[in-house]
Parts: sequence; structure tokens; C-alpha cells
Amino acid sequence: MKVHVAVLPSPGMGPIIPLLELAKQLVVCHGIHVSLFNITTEASAAQNQLLHSPTLPPNLKVIDLRPVDISALVTEDAGIVTRLCINVQESLKPLKSVLIELGKPQALIIELFWTQAFEICNELSIPTYMLFTCSTAFLTFTLYLPTLDRIFLNSWEDFETALLKAIRELPFYKQIATPPVHPVGPLIKEDEPLTELGAKCVAWLDKQPLDSILLVSLGSGGTLTNAQLTELAWGLELSQQRFILVARKPTDGSASGSFFNVDGDVNDPKAYLPKGFIERTKGVGLVMPSWAQQVAVLRHPSTGVFLSHCGWNSTLESITYGVPMIAWPLYAEQKMNAAMLVEEVGVAIKPMVGEGKGVVEREEIERMVRMVMEGEEGKAIRGRAKELEHSASQGLNFGGSSYGSLFCVVKEWTTSDQI
Ligand code: UDP
Repeated sequence: MKVHVAVLPSPGMGPIIPLLELAKQLVVCHGIHVSLFNITTEASAAQNQLLHSPTLPPNLKVIDLRPVDISALVTEDAGIVTRLCINVQESLKPLKSVLIELGKPQALIIELFWTQAFEICNELSIPTYMLFTCSTAFLTFTLYLPTLDRIFLNSWEDFETALLKAIRELPFYKQIATPPVHPVGPLIKEDEPLTELGAKCVAWLDKQPLDSILLVSLGSGGTLTNAQLTELAWGLELSQQRFILVARKPTDGSASGSFFNVDGDVNDPKAYLPKGFIERTKGVGLVMPSWAQQVAVLRHPSTGVFLSHCGWNSTLESITYGVPMIAWPLYAEQKMNAAMLVEEVGVAIKPMVGEGKGVVEREEIERMVRMVMEGEEGKAIRGRAKELEHSASQGLNFGGSSYGSLFCVVKEWTTSDQI
């Protein structure tokens, strides 16, 4: 009998992408059956498209969980984390019966927002694993959570070496209990089929020189204030470097302004970018409204640098394709990721915020973009990105550290299945 594992991501592309990739690896490389639950409440079209793609392997079954009505439980102005927690809490209710109906899988792999599933799985004697979709640095801050059991990490030995060592040594030196950790990354979105717009973007990239493009993209929901977006656009223009700008309507409130609305937000960048910007930068710059197929852009040889909000998926995608970064963190644990990438790993640089102004000014953006595209500092971080690209792919290959970590866990499941 084949080993059967269930996978439960939180809503949102950020967590879904690595959990789906882990599910695919289990099916394709380790011969396991996987049922992946899709939280349909507030799901974006991009999420549904990804999870119902005809290219998913046959032994990976996506199960749509019944949508839940959370309107009576959250106010209109509730923040993103509140909405997420309520959505998860309500969607969790049928989990026990669904797991029983599925014949109790050998393991359940969850993501950070689903810690309540530990209790249900304990009752059913199903071992639960968490794919920690952020950095190891962030994990060290969350280790006190009493509900943590076993954890997979979307990282690899050569990338966060010191932090992994620190976690493993905690029980010996500080008497702090830590869960077993299995670095199995980088798990990133595979190159997806190009949409019409995506194909146009790649055709444009095909005409650009090697390593000449700066990609500016702030994750699935990141937005800037009006003032900051204006400075960014001017900085790009003044730098006279080539770029792709994923433009999103500015929000003067939350920096995660369009998290649940990635594909519904069809907008006209002319309405909020500086007057004449698109015309003046034509040929040098390409403006993509709301969304670009980021992996397709990052893997293209014309892409040289990525100005990123440092979400963990974006970070891993950039490194997988050897692209150094300008770190522009916005919310959640992104500042921690940015500090790690700049100060520890040496694969990114960070802009300076104008004193007392609260924005990065156009002159600073111009300076930084030129420096990273043309200067010595750019060469240094590019060199580091190439080293990490190599170590990431080695780790995932047969015999590599990440492949080996996953192989050992699968072996445990296989053995327990035979008992
Ligand atoms: N993404 C994309 N196009 C965009 C913006 C984001 O394809 O225009 C993808 C990106 O490749 C990544 C994910 O959305 O896989 C964003 O995840 P991340 O963890 O970087 O940030 P979050 O959206 O969770 O803040």
C-alpha cells in the first residue's frame, strides 16, 4: 500500500506555493500519495488556478474545503491577520471528519496558521509536521511556542548554516527543548505556463542585454504610500537603468494593502505613477499592472537585480536563479529577512531612509540602483548570489542535503506503514 500524506496550507499564495512544491516533490521524487486541502474562502483566482492546474501529477489530489461564511465574525476594517485567523479557525471545523474519511493519512503537513491541527491529529494519532515557510532566523524567535512538534524548513544547510546549528545546539547549551528540524528547501514555484501578458513580458526581456534589468516587485500584497511610489518611480527614471516595475495602486494605510486581491486589482498605473513616467521610460522600462510572472522574470538571463520586499518565497526564488537583491522590507518578518540577507548572507543591499522624512528619496534610489547595476558592490552581491544558486541546486539534487532530509522522513513514514 502506498504511503498517503495530507497537506494543509494557509490561504494566500505565499504559503501555498512552497507547500504545493513540497507535495509535488513527495509525489514525484518519493512515490507518495498526497491530498492537499484548498481553503476556498477568500481564495484568489490565482490560487484556484494554481491548485487546479492540469499539470499537477496524478497522485496529488487537491481537495476543496467547503467555503465558510466569516462575514458575521469580522468587521469590515479587520486587518489581514485577523481575517486569516478567523478563516482558518472556521475552515478547521470539518478537518477531523475529512481526515477520517480519507482513511487517516500517515502524516499531516501544515503551515504556521494551523497549529490547532496538532490537537486533532493527536486524537487521531496522525503525526503532524509543519513546513515553516519563513526563514530559520524567524523560527528561532518562535521556538517557545509549546505546540510545535516536528518541523520542515524551507531553507537549506549551506544557506542558514549558523542558525540551523544554533537551533540544534539549544537543548545542549541552554536546556531549551527544540523540535527536530528538516531543511528541505528551497521549495519554490516551478516555472508556470506563461499567460498572454507574461509572454509579452518575456518577449520584452528577450530583447534586453544580459543582467541589465532591475525587477521591482513587492510580493503578492505589498503596496507603497503615494509619496514613496512617486520617489521610487523618479529614482528609477533618474538612474537610467532598465527595469520592470510591478505597479500597484498606492495605499496610505497598510503596506499589505492588496493581500487578498492580487488578481482582482486591475488598475491603470497612469493614474498614480508620476505624470509622463511611462512615456519617458518607454523602451528602458516595462510597467506591469499589479502582477508579473515573477519566477519567469527572475530566471530570465536579462534580469540582473531584484528590488524585493524580502518575502521568503521571493527571497528563495531570487537566490535559486542567482539574482542579488535590493532589500525593501514592508511588513511581517520581512525586516528580519532583509537584515539577514544584507548583513549575514551578503546577497543584498539596503537603501537609506531620508532623515525625518520616512521615505527613501529619489536621489538615494538613483544612487543605489546605479551602484548595484554598475558598481563594485553590485559585483560582490552578484558573485554571492551565484554561489548560493549553486548550493541551492546541489542541495536539492539526489544526494544533496535537502533531498537527504526529505528522504529520511519519508523512510520513517514508509517503515511505520509496514509495521
Ligand atoms: N508573485 C508573483 N508575481 C507578483 C508578485 C508575487 O508571481 O507580481 C509571487 C512570487 O513569485 C512569490 C509569491 O508571489 O512566489 C509571494 O510570496 P512571498 O513570500 O515573497 O511574499 P508574500 O506575498 O507572502 O508577502
